[in-house]
Amino acid sequence: VKPVVAVVGRPNVGKSTLVNRIIGRQEAVVQDVPGVTRDRVSYDANWNGREFILVDTGGWVSDATGMAAQIAEQAEMAIAAADAVLFVVDATVGTVDEDEAVVRVLRRSKKPVVLAANKVDDARTEAEAASMWNLGLGQPWAVSALHGRGTGDMLDAVLDAL
Ligand code: GDP
Ligand code: MG
Repeated sequence: VKPVVAVVGRPNVGKSTLVNRIIGRQEAVVQDVPGVTRDRVSYDANWNGREFILVDTGGWVSDATGMAAQIAEQAEMAIAAADAVLFVVDATVGTVDEDEAVVRVLRRSKKPVVLAANKVDDARTEAEAASMWNLGLGQPWAVSALHGRGTGDMLDAVLDAL
């Protein structure tokens, strides 16, 4: 049985871009996960020869009203079904209420968490990524899902967490 890694975070932080980056040129198998929202899709992934299932989440928030609660609720379902969680934040924006809502769910879950501070496209944004230490989730891994910067070290941390 392959371990499951859920990719969670508020909309627009780059979760799907990161998932695409990770599955890369491997033949991604898109599959419906039974019994859960159609917005959640899982993919076969591997890193350094270790196989795992990567679960993308998102795309379900109807409007701004109660957005943090909706995000937290959906994240909760994905986290419950996961062996480890890749929590994505946007280093260029910093932490907002919707991020904090997911953090509370992560704390309760006691699942291993790897924190990806995304959109660090160049060295100038490294400092913003470092400020994500204040989330209390351990080391923020500065990555650029768009360009692939830092994703190797982040994936090493994900596999270490499994
Ligand atoms: P999701 O809602 O969390 O799945 O976010 P998406 O993957 O759909 O990305 C939202 C937007 O952020 C898109 O316009 C992406 O191109 C952009 N984006 C994602 N990752 C990066 C990144 O590493 N750097 C930059 N500059 N933009 C990114
Ligand atoms: Mg998405």
